[in-house]
Amino acid sequence: MSKEDYYNEVICAECGFGDREEQLPLCDKCDRGYHMTCLKPIVPRVPTGRWYCPNCTDDAPQPKRF
Ligand SMILES: [Zn+2]
Ligand SMILES: [Zn+2]
Repeated sequence: MSKEDYYNEVICAECGFGDREEQLPLCDKCDRGYHMTCLKPIVPRVPTGRWYCPNCTDDAPQPKRF
């Protein structure tokens, strides 16, 4: 498998399908794709700019200092 093949195959980390690419934003942190409708809660609009998947937004929304 070449790198290009890998990049062409964007699949949703939730359902495992790569259809509806225009509704499959990629996380800016982990580079995984998620269908907007596979997310809970669903994302009603295509995200513009940076987008982070739920896994990554859980991690570090804001750095807290004690
Ligand atoms: Zn999906
Ligand atoms: Zn992510």
